Amino acid sequence: MRLYQLDSYATRFQARVERAWTDEKGHYAVLSQTLFYPESGGQPADRGVLRGPFGEVQVLHAYEEEKAFGDVVHVLSAPVPEGVEVEGEIDWPRRFRHMQRHTAQHLLSQALLRAGGYHTVAVSLDSPVCTVDIEEEAEEAGVLKAEALANFAVYADYPVEAFYVSEEELAHYPLRRPPKVRGKVRLVRIGDFDLAACGGTHLKTSAQAGPIKVLKWERYKGGTRVYFTAGWEALEDYHAKHALLARLALAFSTNPLELEKPIRKLQEELYALKGENQALKEALVKALLARALEEGALLVPDPVLGELAKALLAWGEKTFLLVSPEGRFALLGPRRQEVLERLRALGAKGGGKEVVQGALPKERVVEALGLLS
Ligand SMILES: [Zn+2]
Repeated sequence: MRLYQLDSYATRFQARVERAWTDEKGHYAVLSQTLFYPESGGQPADRGVLRGPFGEVQVLHAYEEEKAFGDVVHVLSAPVPEGVEVEGEIDWPRRFRHMQRHTAQHLLSQALLRAGGYHTVAVSLDSPVCTVDIEEEAEEAGVLKAEALANFAVYADYPVEAFYVSEEELAHYPLRRPPKVRGKVRLVRIGDFDLAACGGTHLKTSAQAGPIKVLKWERYKGGTRVYFTAGWEALEDYHAKHALLARLALAFSTNPLELEKPIRKLQEELYALKGENQALKEALVKALLARALEEGALLVPDPVLGELAKALLAWGEKTFLLVSPEGRFALLGPRRQEVLERLRALGAKGGGKEVVQGALPKERVVEALGLLS
């Protein structure tokens, strides 16, 4: 018996261990009844504990032995004996978040249908950032309207109820999605806003799912993936983003909603400086080129070492050694292997094909510059 379908707010239950086993991956148990929701329909499994004569073991995961109908298998931190009575308790704060995500997804899927004729084909509720995949290529106006509509449904405080109907009766119910199971079908109704076949856990009223915030949407498999967050997790997201904006606003001495202005200014200044820096480097390379051609070995500033070496490649018949005051060096030309051997004797390390690059101890820079002569 799946107790979570009778009362999704119950947190403790009594049961008997009907089957228990262990394999190389872990310890498992099937109970006579359970509140642990097994992972399905995009909603993650519950976690919690089992208590009994053996003490307390953690329930790490729960899954359906066979999809939709099979027993709920509890994955445990330690083995439990068959036949004993246990008390189970689910991790309620975690479950409540899952119920917020899941109920919000019902509301958003219906809102997407009403706002843009968008049909939900898949959902993921594995993390605070949940997704609804729709068949259609969504328009911005449609998604924003759906977000507003979903939140209106939150504020309308609709009751959420689950009930069973037979397969024959189904035709009388205008379902948002046809059921995936046969036989007796569980329907979940949210006021007169949404009606869908679902075996999951839901809140008592739509109001408990709010707020519902669409975070972004993108093209996905010919349709659209809509990202959203709901309930406590939406509030936490708002808190984190508000705190971040407040810190940035303080750093830029402005108010959070005017942050774009100083950031854009900073970007423009950065681009201008980068351009200026490049021009200066090029001028410096040009100025040093003449001296390098004349002297062969040259002390050069670190930032232009590589560029100057590249420019000198045009004079392939001559060997050049450029060394920076910090000890970085670039070596090129026909005698480079022989010079490299001598640099190594000074403690240099490095390699390369046309241009050998590396570093040597700072205190050997003057000595290194004398190696070419
Ligand atoms: Zn549901």
